[in-house]
Amino acid sequence: MTTPISILQKTFGYPAFRGQQEAIIQHVTSGQNAFVVMPTGAGKSLCYQIPALCLDGVGVVVSPLIALMQDQVGALAQLGIAAAAIHSGLPPHQIEEIRQQMRTGTLDLVYVAPERLVMPEFMDFLQGCKLALFAIDEAHCLSQWGHDFRPDYAALSVLAQRFPAVPRIALTATADAPTRGDIVQRLKLDTGRTFIGGFDRPNIHYSIETKNNSKQQLWRFIQDNHADDAGIIYCLSRKKVEDLAAWLKEKGARVLAYHAGLPHDAREKNQARFLRDEGIIMVATVAFGMGIDKPDVRFVAHLNIPKNIEAYYQETGRAGRDGLPANAYMLYGMEDAAMQRTWIEDSEAPEGQKRIQHHKLSALLGLCEAASCRRQILLGYFGDQAEPCGFCDTCDTKPETFDGTIAAQKALSASYRTGGRFGVSYLIAVLLGKAEQDPRIVRFKHDQQSTFGIGTEYTKAEWQNIFRQLVAQNLLAVDVSGYGGIVMTPKGRQFLKDKQTLALRALPKRIRTETLRSLPKGSAAQSLSTDEERALFNALKTLRLTLAQKSNLPPYAIFHDRTLVDMVKQRPTSLQAMLSVNGMGEAKLKKYGQAFWEVLKKEGVG
Ligand code: ADP
Ligand code: ZN
Repeated sequence: MTTPISILQKTFGYPAFRGQQEAIIQHVTSGQNAFVVMPTGAGKSLCYQIPALCLDGVGVVVSPLIALMQDQVGALAQLGIAAAAIHSGLPPHQIEEIRQQMRTGTLDLVYVAPERLVMPEFMDFLQGCKLALFAIDEAHCLSQWGHDFRPDYAALSVLAQRFPAVPRIALTATADAPTRGDIVQRLKLDTGRTFIGGFDRPNIHYSIETKNNSKQQLWRFIQDNHADDAGIIYCLSRKKVEDLAAWLKEKGARVLAYHAGLPHDAREKNQARFLRDEGIIMVATVAFGMGIDKPDVRFVAHLNIPKNIEAYYQETGRAGRDGLPANAYMLYGMEDAAMQRTWIEDSEAPEGQKRIQHHKLSALLGLCEAASCRRQILLGYFGDQAEPCGFCDTCDTKPETFDGTIAAQKALSASYRTGGRFGVSYLIAVLLGKAEQDPRIVRFKHDQQSTFGIGTEYTKAEWQNIFRQLVAQNLLAVDVSGYGGIVMTPKGRQFLKDKQTLALRALPKRIRTETLRSLPKGSAAQSLSTDEERALFNALKTLRLTLAQKSNLPPYAIFHDRTLVDMVKQRPTSLQAMLSVNGMGEAKLKKYGQAFWEVLKKEGVG
């Protein structure tokens, strides 16, 4: 009999379930509905794939990105699972072939785009097939409250009426409470259960630095930590993407670009190369990434801050899906924050929504300026309690702080006395007593005020550091409705009134990328301890790439890095013993076991 655990071990080659996987699979296999909210990399796919294999009939998977369906189907085929994808890119005779397989029950899983699934003709056709389940992946696309609403998805609410007896399982990595409620209601999952996993991604190392020469900082970070690794770098605009990609290429990095302004073909091609080749860096706008389940993305870097913590967490979550160490690295500066504020103001959103967006942006700035554990703040934002993690920049090196009470008082009063109409550079010139830097200082007689020249104990860079933190702590704010000047907030007024004290982060003495050097390194090879082990790992990788190219598959569809590392560590003493390697199922052993075994033997095993 095929039980979930035997499928996990024999087909997928994993020894045990993770977290709530077993409970979810049990629940769905018994014919009930489920809603699963678990972070990226937690292993959501198995939660519908294994039930689809246990239950009679074909499992229908709704997935938003046609481009990636093919890769998923390819990966399943490697495991010996009969899977197919129906999408608009297929010629009619192939679609008919797949439909035939669905009718006769020879297919385990079929991936379908939402717009096709809800076509009346397709619905009628499904009615004539034996169905194991419906899995709705990226279910947050269903809700207007979610961050990627797709009208196609909303139409999926018909599933409950048309197929009341077929279990539905909806899955997403990111959904706040209103979005969750909406999904449950639209898919009529209220008769089922909701499974919510913790939000933590313990293998991701978070670090955030202030910008001073962003390209150099980034380049250093890459060279020190990720010389041969695949990664994603997010920039705010198409122009910045192009510019940075060109610069990195000149430096000798293997980079590709991706943004909505590129022709469709070029985007598809770059995405495919990112998935299929190894060690490619993708410089992209946020248009890139949804549904990308490349497991070995070793770093995600942000050259500009995203719009809120949800976006940051989703984007950084694309790193390290395979559970091996990965880096989330962000550079930020005041200009980014000001630009985001302006965009919010200039948007068509109603006032209430704008307020929420400003509030969310402030929370992100708070994260950037924090002197405490980054993970604690991130998890706290999503409602999870945590201890300091020991695996983020502020845990690695406790930021130096200083008593910023007087500095804050001076900065606040400089803003207040100049009427809240001027930017940071102007206020700093006033504090430093440098009237020559801006003719308006004399014109408005700001050189005659008590705040003129009272801040000479700090340098310009130090004042910038102070102002940034005061804005992040919401004692000062950028006045986006007026001239973009820096104004005192009610919280700032309270601060002065109550004579509160304030600790601020000191300006780092050096560019902090240097401290990143001592970090646990990201790539799989680095978890190996000797040169001999690394050489063996590389030999296995070379074989993997050759095999992947021969069958036009991404290398990870053959074996994950983790599986190769495990081969090196375990050194199985026979072909059969290879089965105990993590990620080695029966189909893969049959297909590839011999070839990898040869390399292991040749490089001196046993
Ligand atoms: P999600 O969809 O939640 O982002 P995936 O389903 O892509 O995550 O799983 C992430 C990775 O973890 C995949 O490479 C998957 O094969 C692996 N994985 C899932 N479940 C297990 C398990 N029980 N043991 C080992 N690896 C697992
Ligand atoms: Zn930490």
